[in-house]
Amino acid sequence: MLTTTTDAFQDIREAIRSLCAEFPDEYHRRIDMDRAYPEAFVDALTRAGWMAALIPEEYGGSGLGLTEASVIMEEINRAGGNSGACHGQMYNMNTLLKHGSDAQKRDILPRLASGELRLQSMGVTEPTTGTDTTKIRTTAVRKGDRYVINGQKVWISRVQHSDLMILLARTTPLADVTKKSEGLSIFLVDVKQAMAAGMAVRPILNMVNHETNELFFDNLEIPAENLIGQEGQGFRYILTGLNAERALIAAECIGDGYWFVDRVTRYVGDRVVFGRPIGQNQGVQFPIAESYIEIEAANLMRYKACRLFDDGQPCGAEANMAKYLAAKASWEAANACIQFHGGFGFACEYDVERKFRETRLYQVAPISTNLILSYIAEHVLGLPRSF
Ligand SMILES: Cc1cc2nc3c(=O)[nH]c(=O)nc-3n(C[C@H](O)[C@H](O)[C@H](O)COP(=O)(O)OP(=O)(O)OC[C@H]3O[C@@H](n4cnc5c(N)ncnc54)[C@H](O)[C@@H]3O)c2cc1C
Repeated sequence: MLTTTTDAFQDIREAIRSLCAEFPDEYHRRIDMDRAYPEAFVDALTRAGWMAALIPEEYGGSGLGLTEASVIMEEINRAGGNSGACHGQMYNMNTLLKHGSDAQKRDILPRLASGELRLQSMGVTEPTTGTDTTKIRTTAVRKGDRYVINGQKVWISRVQHSDLMILLARTTPLADVTKKSEGLSIFLVDVKQAMAAGMAVRPILNMVNHETNELFFDNLEIPAENLIGQEGQGFRYILTGLNAERALIAAECIGDGYWFVDRVTRYVGDRVVFGRPIGQNQGVQFPIAESYIEIEAANLMRYKACRLFDDGQPCGAEANMAKYLAAKASWEAANACIQFHGGFGFACEYDVERKFRETRLYQVAPISTNLILSYIAEHVLGLPRSF
């Protein structure tokens, strides 16, 4: 590894690196080609306690903060893996920790910590409403001690490799609320029970391997106690998870960015064309240097966002800016990496094309670059609302 990060988390970094070393490039390449789930890798992370990093010690976890969780995710991507297989548990955890009832926490957290359960999936996006989340059409209607769910979701990841999913649905019709963000609620859904009684799952073959699906709900009944927090406040709750998600994705992009810079720096130092290493040409050096600068800068904002989150401070602007900067930096690094590998950048055995596809996702999901710009323009700078 050429690039080094000096921070207070060297112990975590070393531990994750040594675990990741047992899962070399060939492992992740094969999983990607087979469109498989990295079971062995996620099991190893779970057994070593890393998937329980955010769970308080009283529930069997290690009680670490989002900052440490982000270091774990960063190191996975930096080692050539893809945190997309397991990052859901990290950001979903925050929603449960901050808004779940004591009974829910006592029931679920120890089982997540032991690895008996996985909470890897979150169902928000819908085909007809896209980013306009408050317009979602999936409904949850209270019927005695149950909620009955009907509707459709799209692009929902890791459903078939998760025991629990956090689901956003409308409990009060949009026409009956004063603010469009009200009347939405979040629920814990037992995935296997749901698949047996009202939730159909259809995988979407796509560019990256996150086990991503369409979901169809047809009178799915779930116990009323699966509601998280207060009915109607789910949009506010889910934002907690989304800020954590943005900061974690920023860290993953930073891991990707370092991976690309490491790989391309090594390659252009070795590859000789026209009688000298291609890395001796400034036309080759400068895009690599530029992306390295941008990764380092994005890293500062990532730590700021994580620190605010861990201190319980508002961090919407910082989490969004960290995700924006890091996704942009990793994408620039990916472009330089594939470009200067020439034809070999397209050969699967170099892993550049795989990582290139994986990091490209973060321009669009979990929130598109345009929507971040819109958030900053309107919520931070106070410009007139466009929607
Ligand atoms: C591989 C993958 C995994 C995913 N996993 C999950 C998951 O686990 N759970 C989940 O809930 N969702 C998931 N998603 C969905 C993801 O969060 C959405 O795709 C993303 O938020 C964009 O929403 P959309 O696809 O509906 O795009 P749209 O909302 O249709 O927007 C399309 C594009 O239009 C532009 N745009 C839209 N509105 C505006 C505007 N007002 N101003 C300027 N530009 C605008 C943006 O550039 C945007 O990229 C996943 C998506 C992918 C591809």
